[in-house]
Amino acid sequence: MLEIDTSEYRSKYLIILIVVGIGISLLAFFLGVSVVVSDSKKDFQRRAEQAFSRIENRFELLTQIDEDLAQFFYASDEVTSAEFSQFTRQIVERNDFLRQTMLANVVPKNELKLFEFSKREQGYTGYKVKSFESGKNTSKYLYPIEYYEPVSIQSSLWFGKDLRSLAETQEAFEQIHRDSFFALSDPMDVNGRLSFLILHALSPDADMRPDSGLDESDAYGVLAYVIDINDLLELSSSLLSSVTYKVEMDGREVFKSQAPNALNSLKLGSFLVNRTFVFSNTSMYFEISHYVVFSDIDFLLPLLIFLSGLLMTGFIYATTRSELMRSQLLEQQKNEVSRQVKNQTRQLRHQAASLALTRDQALKANQTKSTFLANMSHELRTPLNSIIGFSEILGKGMSGPVEEEQKKQLDIILVNARGLLALINNVLDLSKVESGKVEIDIGLLDVEAMLKNLEETFIPLAKEKNLTFEYEIKDNSKPVYTDHEKLRQILVNLIANAIKFTNEGGIKVEFFSHLEYYCFRIIDTGIGISRQKLRNIFDDFYQVEGSASRTYEGTGLGLAISQRFAELLGGFINVESEEGVGSIFSVYISDLDDMETRRKSLEESNKKTVT
Ligand code: ADP
Repeated sequence: MLEIDTSEYRSKYLIILIVVGIGISLLAFFLGVSVVVSDSKKDFQRRAEQAFSRIENRFELLTQIDEDLAQFFYASDEVTSAEFSQFTRQIVERNDFLRQTMLANVVPKNELKLFEFSKREQGYTGYKVKSFESGKNTSKYLYPIEYYEPVSIQSSLWFGKDLRSLAETQEAFEQIHRDSFFALSDPMDVNGRLSFLILHALSPDADMRPDSGLDESDAYGVLAYVIDINDLLELSSSLLSSVTYKVEMDGREVFKSQAPNALNSLKLGSFLVNRTFVFSNTSMYFEISHYVVFSDIDFLLPLLIFLSGLLMTGFIYATTRSELMRSQLLEQQKNEVSRQVKNQTRQLRHQAASLALTRDQALKANQTKSTFLANMSHELRTPLNSIIGFSEILGKGMSGPVEEEQKKQLDIILVNARGLLALINNVLDLSKVESGKVEIDIGLLDVEAMLKNLEETFIPLAKEKNLTFEYEIKDNSKPVYTDHEKLRQILVNLIANAIKFTNEGGIKVEFFSHLEYYCFRIIDTGIGISRQKLRNIFDDFYQVEGSASRTYEGTGLGLAISQRFAELLGGFINVESEEGVGSIFSVYISDLDDMETRRKSLEESNKKTVT
């Protein structure tokens, strides 16, 4: 099992990746915020400009309205309630920044009752005069509010008030008396809203205006109308929360608002716009400053950008990390595999070395065995040959007469000694082959001559058993180079076996060429070999069965040697046999001259010996 240490993967690279990812996300966030802030600035500037142009329009309208009002009042001496109502209602409805109009009459104190009575007769039913003492500005005239329009929002605040005695209106009064018929009051609270009054003096004598000044005794009243400053600026409530505005009249600060949010919230920036207007004889300076406050900013988009940046960073982090882990795992697996391969290679090398040692030992043992056998065979053959030689001399009566019984015993000695010699010869041949001491002597083969010679050798034996013996050369077109002695020994073994294991019929030897081989085929009509045993007949010292080997003498080495010789001659022996029918032994050999030429050229090109 492979263990992975995850702490390894918190590499420097991953940390840099996270830091860069978060950095880029933050940068994108702040960029987003700055875009939103600059958007908000542009929006504010646009709205402030709109507000200023509205103020300008409205001051122009007010001038127009004032003139209309003057015309209306001077058109008749007595304006009825219905006329006043209709006229002022129109004005208020058409100009939404006007809240109400008021008519304040100039009435001497002693004429109040009479004045009230006459006004009621003119239809001003809502009219009421409250007895009023204006303190230090005691005057013989009062300026009580006589009538409001629209009636619905009239306030009792103004009833019985002497407009001249109010601090906010005093200067305006002075102004209209001095040089003009209308003037702006200072801002004042009307029903909880910051408002201006526009005052217009009404005089029964039209000729007196505008340049002659107005004597209080000549005037019969003042027309006043209310403008709400917020209506004038028409700033939206969302903007108001972060907007401060300042109003100066003739260089004197008369009003300054403080945006509630600007006090408490975190400010991200502020912008300021201002404009000066001249209305009647009053110069008005408006200044609007906007604070971009934290709570006013729409953080959704920058936040979304930031979060997607984080998400992307997370994603890249995860995939990179898993990729790193995967490659680490692969690396570990690779290492593990190469470790195992190394181990196994070491083991294999070890095994190969010990096998080589065993092989060398076996080879050496085999060589020792072969050498021992060769030596022993030689030591045995010398005395055996003299036993055979002397037995023959004795048997032939060359060293004195031999009795019949003695001759029989001598024959037994001879047969056994010859068998023993054959065995020793075979063992010697086998060991020679195994120890690689056999040399090949190549020469051109005369097939016909060889077969003829074999026929001469075996015909007597065959005749003894009443067997036929013949040979046939089927194809002798090409010359064959081979080792005559080895080939002859193979054929002698096979033909001797064929005669030995055949009791009736005969033996036939054929010669032909097959593919790149030359073949000698020995066909007999003998006892045959069972299929099961066929597999073993080429083994050393193998004889088909004990009883058979008793019937047919032998060493069990003939086929083993023949097969090895056939291999030396570049071929092999094949056998086909059926029990009770006969056997066919085919000896295939190569043209050794051809083989030799090939071997030499191979040797030259490889510069090494091929065995
Ligand atoms: P041996 O010296 O006993 O003949 P071989 O190696 O020549 O030894 O033969 C091995 C055995 O194969 C023989 O013992 C025999 O049983 C069988 N064999 C060989 N040639 C023939 C044949 N032509 N027909 C039947 N059996 C055979």
